[in-house]
Amino acid sequence: MSGEEYLARKYCQPKPYWHCLRELTGGNYYSFKELNYPEYWLDALGKYTQQEPSAAAKQLHQRVEAARAEFRAKQDRAWGAGGVDRATFEKKELAAWNTFNAQKQAYLKDYLRALETGTVVRRRTGRKCKQCNAAKVVGRAKYCEVCAKQRHREAVRTSKKKQRQSSRVITLLPEPIQPEALAAA
Ligand SMILES: [Zn+2]
Repeated sequence: MSGEEYLARKYCQPKPYWHCLRELTGGNYYSFKELNYPEYWLDALGKYTQQEPSAAAKQLHQRVEAARAEFRAKQDRAWGAGGVDRATFEKKELAAWNTFNAQKQAYLKDYLRALETGTVVRRRTGRKCKQCNAAKVVGRAKYCEVCAKQRHREAVRTSKKKQRQSSRVITLLPEPIQPEALAAA
């Protein structure tokens, strides 16, 4: 795996940006901005590989940041014009977060394909996944592979939760996301 691919995979992890690049911290080779602001990911990548980022990496960055902007707008809207209760907000925020992560996976797939074929292809307009609205779906499927798997996991979790008679609160995420971390995503 090339250094660029390695850092692209990190960049697309379902975590806040600073968390994705956490292993680059320490020392002062990377600037604070490069480690904490996704706008500067291409700069961090250039330093990491000692090369100009590929066209595919630039496209990946542009797409992921557009998706991140969408996520942040949804997050803001979820608060509504004040007076939204915490549970409603968290549910909406989580849905937006899941969508963003699915988008990252879809764009990463395109990036990896571009590395393989050596060509950056614009995503053809076709039927898009109903959840992430980014990945193309095959046949009569409603959801892309990533979203379908995620939905399946959620459905299993929900049914298990119903079976359990306990009133114990089960968090939806394997690793609960701190609201501060999300705000910094
Ligand atoms: Zn999807």
